[in-house]
Amino acid sequence: MKNYELLINGEWVGTDWKQYEVINPATTKPIASVPYGGEKEAKQAVDAAAEAFTMWKKKTAQERCDILYRWYELVKENEEEIAKLMTEEQGKPLAEALGEVRYANAYIQWYAEEGKRVYGETIPASAPDKRMLVLRQPIGVVAAITPWNFPAAMITRKIAPALAVGCTAVLKPASQTPLTAIKLVEYAEQAGVPKGVLNIVTGSAREIGGAWTKDRRVRKLTFTGSTEVGKQLMKESADTMKKVSLELGGHAPFIVLKDADLDVAVTGVLASKFRNAGQTCICTNRVYVHQDIEAQFVSAVADKVKEMKVGNGLDQQTTIGPMIDENAVDKVNEHVEDARAKGAIIETGGQRIAGDGYYYAPTVMSGVTDDMQCMSEETFGPLLPIATFTDVDDAITRANDTPFGLAAYVFTTNLSEAFYVSEALEYGIIGLNDGGPSAAQAPFGGWKESGTGREGGRQGMEDYLETKYISIKL
Ligand code: ADP
Repeated sequence: MKNYELLINGEWVGTDWKQYEVINPATTKPIASVPYGGEKEAKQAVDAAAEAFTMWKKKTAQERCDILYRWYELVKENEEEIAKLMTEEQGKPLAEALGEVRYANAYIQWYAEEGKRVYGETIPASAPDKRMLVLRQPIGVVAAITPWNFPAAMITRKIAPALAVGCTAVLKPASQTPLTAIKLVEYAEQAGVPKGVLNIVTGSAREIGGAWTKDRRVRKLTFTGSTEVGKQLMKESADTMKKVSLELGGHAPFIVLKDADLDVAVTGVLASKFRNAGQTCICTNRVYVHQDIEAQFVSAVADKVKEMKVGNGLDQQTTIGPMIDENAVDKVNEHVEDARAKGAIIETGGQRIAGDGYYYAPTVMSGVTDDMQCMSEETFGPLLPIATFTDVDDAITRANDTPFGLAAYVFTTNLSEAFYVSEALEYGIIGLNDGGPSAAQAPFGGWKESGTGREGGRQGMEDYLETKYISIKL
């Protein structure tokens, strides 16, 4: 079993720290050990990032972007190796892991290009002898705390824009998936990211997160994870008035109008729901299908789900891997049993899969009502509950009746309806006849309690910049 090390201030460290084991969710066996850091190591990482900031921010954008571009090339050359490591620690099927590495790398490539376009402004002045200038400058040390469901992409979409505009960073990946993160950092170092510019600490989330939120030198906190932890980090960040970007939970509705192209809707819902065994924050949580097409829709979806092959992600045939841990399986089971008790019909699935590994059968339920737990709480697993509607305004009201506002999906062939529903939904991302809306060039983020700030696209760079207005008297 390999012992991994961490990069702090350009040194690979941690062999003499306490270690913890990383588990393969497909087998429940340990596969590697990583250092278990705490407050002291978190602070050392900030020391390094703060010092490196004075140098990194002065590089030209081209210099920084050249390094990022080399990072992109190295990740590309080694994508198979990173994907395998990801499947082993996270569980997703190898083809999906490879897809994620490419998606993650698209952020590095995109920001290596976009980092050169941090434009300021000149403003027509308030007096003839004045000139007014607006500069955009890197905010400073960025702390990034990332989740286990996308072990590569959640890192690159924070780190790439931060580094591109001249910030330095300290990173804590999720405890369950540190290996992909360490690999990415290794390639960043090989690409020429100077010492201290990118640092990684694994270990106690509470201690590391706490050390970073209270540190004045950390000017920006970017977090992806649960709404509960996100709220706590936002409160902790208030004392030092850090800028925060939070990408939190969701509860995505998937609305299928009467005139939808059924094949397109079925393909869309399968992609949205079952990717990563339903463990994505923009996963469909609940379907509202028009009453008149319910029977056709349910049977088409259930038929496809029955063909899915659950197993170890390293097995070529597998289309659905294990869930991340026992708690994740318990949560899906709880939602299914609650719905079953309240009268839902299990079309397929509806049980755990026995044996080693954290498996739950992909499940489709019909006859679902709004009082069932799965209709208001995030399931984060392979459970698709299908409810019906007859009036589109009723579907919109029910879709919006949640504290979350990350992604929503609408399927229709009617252009007017498409705009009407898309504009009425209180969500940051709309998949209009599209079950996979994420892309490096587009702003990803939520309304309401799904978070604040955006990742990806031009907007994803703004989050790492401060504005400075210079008033000049001639
Ligand atoms: P998930 O449900 O995706 O595991 P969490 O919010 O628990 O979501 O975890 C997301 C990230 O936040 C992980 O890196 C985790 O270690 C970290 N984390 C969890 N609790 C805290 C905390 N109290 N302070 C800082 N980071 C935390």
